[in-house]
Amino acid sequence: MHQVSLLINGEMQASSSTQFIDVTNPANNQVIAQVPCATEQEIEQAIMSAQRAFDTWKDVPVTERARVMMRYQALLKEHQRSIAETLAQETGKTIDDAMGDVWRGIEVVEQAMNVPSMMMGETVENVARNIDTYSHIQPLGVCVGITPFNFPAMIPLWMFPLAIACGNTFILKPSEQDPMTPMRLAELFIEAGAPAGVLNVIHGGKEQVEPLLTHPLIKAVSFVGSVPVGQHIYRTATANMKRAQCFAGAKNHTVIMPDANKEHVLNNLVGASVGAAGQRCMAISVAVFVGESQQWIPELAERIAQVKPGVWDDKKAGFGPLISPAAKQRVLGFIQSGKEQGARCLVDGSECQVAGYEQGNWVGPTVFADVTDQMDIYQQEIFGPVLCTMAAASLEDALTLVNNNPYGNGTSIFTNSGAAARKYQREVEVGQVGINVPIPVPLPFFSFTGWKNSFYGDLHAYGKQAIRFYTETKTITARWLENDIPGGPNMTISLS
Ligand code: NAD
Repeated sequence: MHQVSLLINGEMQASSSTQFIDVTNPANNQVIAQVPCATEQEIEQAIMSAQRAFDTWKDVPVTERARVMMRYQALLKEHQRSIAETLAQETGKTIDDAMGDVWRGIEVVEQAMNVPSMMMGETVENVARNIDTYSHIQPLGVCVGITPFNFPAMIPLWMFPLAIACGNTFILKPSEQDPMTPMRLAELFIEAGAPAGVLNVIHGGKEQVEPLLTHPLIKAVSFVGSVPVGQHIYRTATANMKRAQCFAGAKNHTVIMPDANKEHVLNNLVGASVGAAGQRCMAISVAVFVGESQQWIPELAERIAQVKPGVWDDKKAGFGPLISPAAKQRVLGFIQSGKEQGARCLVDGSECQVAGYEQGNWVGPTVFADVTDQMDIYQQEIFGPVLCTMAAASLEDALTLVNNNPYGNGTSIFTNSGAAARKYQREVEVGQVGINVPIPVPLPFFSFTGWKNSFYGDLHAYGKQAIRFYTETKTITARWLENDIPGGPNMTISLS
């Protein structure tokens, strides 16, 4: 049985732990590897190795740090397919979707290659006579990343390349459900020339995360995962005086105006709702049809019903299984509650099976109509291939619904009216908005800007905000004397 390694001080090493968690293929629940729960001593070694590496890495010129990222980007591109195959087998994603997961991560590494210009400070000459003020951007020290199962390539790559390009060192604690993909990313990072200790990877769950949130040498914590865990991590890290950015759950609405292009809407909503089995934090899980567009709901349901789940290398599969039997049971529970609470189940995926893979965590595409904001299927994040459709009389009503929802990760509007789109983009209380684009995940020169219960913190992932998150600003005020300055002591706070 393959035992997943730890990465400590540049060495891939077997853990001395006696506790292991099974990594399974979600298509048949066969165990494909075992991941160790790192021991206290191993976690301490990882932190100390990152701290030692910081002493030298922070002084490596920014251009050399950028060149490590250039080599890393080339290696990731070269190995994209093999990484995606590992990823597909441990997550169940289709190979095309797995390739996309890796690609969206590579784009962040491309952003990290630009680190010299992103770390430029500011200057104002002659702020007072013969005095200049300028700022420098400096790294923090040891940073930590705790990542979820649903994007095991993209989300670790949201974090460590930018943190390390800024001159920090890093400890990654990936999801215990699919740790082989992040280990492959780590191996390639070493191959790209990252010095020992700059990136460390430890494995496990809650017990392994806790010391990372309290250890005095850890300066910043990045987390992506569910709301309760995100709240706990944000509270614990900040109570221990660390910076924290915690990206959490979501309930993303799309609003369909009657003047939208029907074909465009239907084609886009199929993939945006049930793609990746709905296990995307930016999946569309609620479609709000305004006015006459409600007539399109039956046709949308028909199209979604055509999507067939399947195994990762089945070219006809629209999406794969859920990550675990527990995730499947949770989603089935929501489908049941939707029926009991009075929603109309237009497409029911609860009995879905895939021939030859009867033990897999399958849930088929599911569509509900007549959903109300009081139902559990509306209020909770389902994280499965389940779309709730709702009706609204006007754009105002749709906006009220979306703004009353406690989540604020992403939303979209389909319309041909510039006025409607502008009103929506301006008034909606959600951090990422698509206009005729269903899942508006920004490219990495912007930032990933979820709001409300989808994000705790202030500086977001990637883009300029990530550079700010992973650095301190030092502001220097300097006077160089050409001649002796006449006069006695200056007793005021002015700079003249
Ligand atoms: P999760 O919260 O269960 O786990 C995330 C990470 O936290 C894992 O590494 C896990 O080992 C660790 N963890 C779990 N329980 C912990 C605890 N009590 N204390 C400390 N650490 C703990 O999330 P998941 O099921 O892996 O991922 C799915 C969730 O992630 C969904 O809610 C989804 O919306 C969210 N997500 C959000 C974004 C975003 O950008 N907002 C992106 C992707 C996923």
